[in-house]
Amino acid sequence: MGIFDGLEAALDKLERWRKLQDRVDTLERELAELKARFFLPQCPFCGAPAWRLAKSTPNPDMEEMGVHDRIYRCDSCGKSETRVEV
Ligand SMILES: [Zn+2]
Repeated sequence: MGIFDGLEAALDKLERWRKLQDRVDTLERELAELKARFFLPQCPFCGAPAWRLAKSTPNPDMEEMGVHDRIYRCDSCGKSETRVEV
């Protein structure tokens, strides 16, 4: 057992460590996506938890009262709805 055997074993461990780190990075990314989807409201059309605010603009007639026209869109079915909200 020479010095190179020890080096080879250390490099193997390093390679395994890098693969594990890549896997952790991937899992963290996937978990973040799942959390984002889990906490989104359900789409009123298809029921998927994918209903999100797509655009918000001040309502031209009631802008001074803080009223906005908000477009909500479903990431799953693509349907959308405009709501007038404060
Ligand atoms: Zn939908």
